[in-house]
Amino acid sequence: MFIKSIHIKCNHMLLISILTLILFVSSFLVFHYYPKNISSIPTNSDNENDYIKWVDFTVPCKVLQLTANLDINSHNNNEKIQYNWIELLAYLACIYGGNFKNFNANDLNKLTENLQNGKSMEDLTTTLTFYDYYLEAYSAILNGFIGNYSIEVLDANNQKVFENRYGLKAFLPIAKNYYFTHYKDFGNSRSYGFKRTHLGNDLMGSIGTPIIAVESGIVEQLGWNQYGGWRVGIRSFDGKRYYYYAHLRKDHPYVKGLEKGDTVKAGDVIGYLGMTGYSIKENVNNINVSHLHFGMQLIFDESQVDSPNEIWIDVYEIIEFLKSNTSEVYLSNKETIDYSRKYDFMEEFLTE
Ligand SMILES: [Zn+2]
Repeated sequence: MFIKSIHIKCNHMLLISILTLILFVSSFLVFHYYPKNISSIPTNSDNENDYIKWVDFTVPCKVLQLTANLDINSHNNNEKIQYNWIELLAYLACIYGGNFKNFNANDLNKLTENLQNGKSMEDLTTTLTFYDYYLEAYSAILNGFIGNYSIEVLDANNQKVFENRYGLKAFLPIAKNYYFTHYKDFGNSRSYGFKRTHLGNDLMGSIGTPIIAVESGIVEQLGWNQYGGWRVGIRSFDGKRYYYYAHLRKDHPYVKGLEKGDTVKAGDVIGYLGMTGYSIKENVNNINVSHLHFGMQLIFDESQVDSPNEIWIDVYEIIEFLKSNTSEVYLSNKETIDYSRKYDFMEEFLTE
């Protein structure tokens, strides 16, 4: 009897000890490990401020050309050192604090000389604090501009054949052989609706001038907008660039069949120059001078779309740069009076 009760007591004690141990171990795990694990997992709130909030783009056309040529020629000539124009530009931006008014060709020569002498971009940028920022910012702007693509050309028998190339694959938004003028108007004051600044470049031309997709991408916006009139917004495949083409032609703004969600190729006809906009009512010509409003928005985080934190860059110099690559068009549909590109184009991400 005595022994039995001792035994029960022992069992009780054992049970209590085990329960206490479990309680202790689990509380230890909860208080010591759980918070540690949680804090090591990146959460949205931790990363909220990690993306780029602002970009000033001041690279002149001349410098875009110089660096693009270094990149394109070194690839096409299969040189030992193949340049990446965006890296070259990011390096120069560090030297000039982002302001290319200070550009000196000697700095670019010195950089390419160092690369030729076996130094890597990594070696040359270890002490440049803002190199990663400029590389990411300029990549967001220029990533779709230079690379591999195929384009139709005429062979000896005047037949169209695809030719593989490496080079500039972004097009001027105005079709080949159509006249336009523009000036540096980014940041100018606009008064329609509310006082605001001009966030693009106006390309003045004739009504009906075919408008060309600068880069391949997906049609994200299409339709009437109080400010832009008939407009189309196209997002690059990497999601970083939103191209905005506005004030398209009254009654016939878009190329036949163009819809939201469509994939367009760089160099495709997407619409026609006009003077619509500045009206809540649709299809109204309230713009004084016929022109294409062309804008480029950068998106590093989706919260930057349709927000007070939108980043629009000055595209004047980019338009100057793109004058060297224009898309030729022809009247392809006499019934609807629609134009198409003359020479077809293919690149990565696009499927027939
Ligand atoms: Zn404008």
